[in-house]
Amino acid sequence: MTQPTITGRGLMLVLSSPSGAGKTTISRALLRDGADVVMSISVTTRAPRPGEENGKDYYFVSESEFHAMVAAGELLEHARVFDNYYGTPRAHVEKELEAGRIVLFDIDWQGTQQLKSNARDDLASIFILPPSLEELERRLKGRGQDADDVVRHRMSRAAGEMSHWPEYDYVIVNRDVDLSIAQTRAILTAERLRRDRQTGLAAFVNSMRDT
Ligand code: 5GP
Repeated sequence: MTQPTITGRGLMLVLSSPSGAGKTTISRALLRDGADVVMSISVTTRAPRPGEENGKDYYFVSESEFHAMVAAGELLEHARVFDNYYGTPRAHVEKELEAGRIVLFDIDWQGTQQLKSNARDDLASIFILPPSLEELERRLKGRGQDADDVVRHRMSRAAGEMSHWPEYDYVIVNRDVDLSIAQTRAILTAERLRRDRQTGLAAFVNSMRDT
């Protein structure tokens, strides 16, 4: 359901989870829902995985390019995750927010904290938990993209990442991906209906009073 007659300001919707908990599947479903949902594409210094495309999954950059972007203030937030750097290019996000769009972020807890201190009013954050560590490992192995030692490394980091759930507005345990998608859509609907996000409300109500 949309409200074309009432203008709204955009929203940053952050989805964080340990790798493999399902946030990519959930974001893809939201992106398919409509043209007003877009993904923030991060820059990273990590190597592309098989099938990943530059400019679609990430912008793959060298460490020196990354540090130059940080120095130039081009990143809205940035963090070191595992052994690589990741960051969010500022310009794209600002343009989409001004156009009233929903910008989805797949970033870690460090980036979420930075966004929270810089842009709390425009932010809603969701932490996705796996149903169990066994299931997380099964999903990481099943996606077949990472070598065994990378999977082990990610598993060893999972508990630490999961400890950040209390810093998020919403928490979803991803037992059933369709249910998790429905729950994420419900959060998005509610966030869009927040009074202070519907910037055109006063004009809308006034227009009804004047006629
Ligand atoms: P992956 O290498 O599996 O694509 O991502 C590893 C971790 O980095 C994930 O937890 C992901 O959410 C996080 N990440 C990806 N892009 C960004 C970003 O731009 N900023 C921050 N802070 N974390 C990111």
